[in-house]
Amino acid sequence: MTEEKPAILWFRQDLRLADNPALHVAANHPFFAVYIWDEQDPWPPGGASRWWLYKSLGALKQSLHERGIQLIFRRGNPLHVLKTLAQETKACGIYWNRCYEPYAINRDKEIKSYFTKEGIPCQSFNGSLLVEPWEIQTKTKGPYQVFTPFWKALQSLNFPKLTPIPDLQGWKTDVSSEALEELGLSPTLWGQSLEEAWQPGEKGAWERLNHFLEDDGVEAYARKRDYPSENGTSHLSPHLHWGELSPTQIWHQTSQIYGAEALPFLRQLGWREFSYHLLFHFPELPSKPLRPSFDRFPWEENADTLKAWQTGQTGYPLVDAGMRELWHTGSMHNRVRMVVASFLVKHLLLPWQKGEEWFWDTLVDADLANNAVSWQWVAGCGADAAPYFRIFNPSLQSQKFDSEGIYIKQWVPELHVLDFPYIHSPWQAPIEILERAGIELGTTYPFPIVDHAFARKRALEALRSL
Ligand SMILES: Cc1cc2nc3c(=O)[nH]c(=O)nc-3n(C[C@H](O)[C@H](O)[C@H](O)COP(=O)(O)OP(=O)(O)OC[C@H]3O[C@@H](n4cnc5c(N)ncnc54)[C@H](O)[C@@H]3O)c2cc1C
Repeated sequence: MTEEKPAILWFRQDLRLADNPALHVAANHPFFAVYIWDEQDPWPPGGASRWWLYKSLGALKQSLHERGIQLIFRRGNPLHVLKTLAQETKACGIYWNRCYEPYAINRDKEIKSYFTKEGIPCQSFNGSLLVEPWEIQTKTKGPYQVFTPFWKALQSLNFPKLTPIPDLQGWKTDVSSEALEELGLSPTLWGQSLEEAWQPGEKGAWERLNHFLEDDGVEAYARKRDYPSENGTSHLSPHLHWGELSPTQIWHQTSQIYGAEALPFLRQLGWREFSYHLLFHFPELPSKPLRPSFDRFPWEENADTLKAWQTGQTGYPLVDAGMRELWHTGSMHNRVRMVVASFLVKHLLLPWQKGEEWFWDTLVDADLANNAVSWQWVAGCGADAAPYFRIFNPSLQSQKFDSEGIYIKQWVPELHVLDFPYIHSPWQAPIEILERAGIELGTTYPFPIVDHAFARKRALEALRSL
């Protein structure tokens, strides 16, 4: 008796078993799974993201192994890798869940067309979004560029049904695999501190979600979400990026328990959908401003101010706290992301792409759509962007959202003895207070890298010139 030919399940940004439509269909056959480290990707995962991927693939391999399914690792051009695998195993079909990055879309089209010609069926599915980016259109059949009507339209649609984990039948023959360690993802600089903050993998994702739902996360979300010292948000973003949970699972689970009360939280998933919608329709978003007039913006080039920003040495405590939190944990509170991003672009006049790149390398949730859209939003050159004259005053933002300086003191310990109001602007503190606090500006903590009033005026002039 000849053995049934296997299907190939190609894992990408869907590193889970539950609610995985590609897995659901691949499981109609005996199958094996592959993860390909794509060496052609123009936006390969950055350092912190690679750490996450390494851990998450380890967890996925283990849970597939427990169900008798082999997860193999290969590196290279995915088309070549899949060709080799399909030939080696005489595969009967290839299945994956869609990615929406411009490079991935073109790559996958090419792969699909190659295998279709070869008579090997390829099928792709939506495993990452509530709605496909092309399924939502304005009345004039174009893409949305304003969030509120997009959000309204999104809520009027039906989201996919959840797919349970089917019975899985592994292919009996072993397929050769590179070791996960050989993909070059394993922890470098960040390993230890990231390990303390996160648990990558499907199990860790569910623990996060359940914790958020069982605690007062959803009920208190609207009240707490803007305060970085409160644990007021879900921390699900890296799990969502790598598809350890689907937005559909989060949506159903949360609205089943909380109904309309969950909307302020679910609205954030709406922003995620909006970002993917924009990236799909404007594929140059990661590098080019959506508003072309910004091509003429008089950006500065300054390696010193960029370094001060990256290392949390700007002299503005909230900005420094955020940048240090990012370095230490691979994440940063959303409110603080807005403040540090605005500071880079408007106070330092450094191009938003520099900030985008740094976030790409250091965030565990680095996501091409969310990152590019958020940076353009803050810079004022994106869709539904913050008006150009909105220039956050970092000291006022910090007074408003971290008034007692709890968050600042956690990440900028050299200021921990200062209290309101000087914790927000140490350069305004009388000398005796600084002395008592053991702070010598310029030595133990920097003077502000740029004066706020000067920076504000300069940015407004530059922006008006557009
Ligand atoms: C300059 C800048 C860069 C950013 N870069 C990224 C990035 O690379 N990856 C990323 O996932 N988010 C990014 N964000 C959006 C946001 O800061 C994070 O999604 C959020 O802080 C993650 O924390 P959470 O999971 O606790 O979010 P929650 O508040 O619990 O929200 C739930 C989920 O909704 C999504 N979400 C929340 N806010 C946004 C938003 N503004 N835009 C899109 N989706 C959102 C995330 O998937 C998040 O996990 C960026 C924001 C800014 C201002």
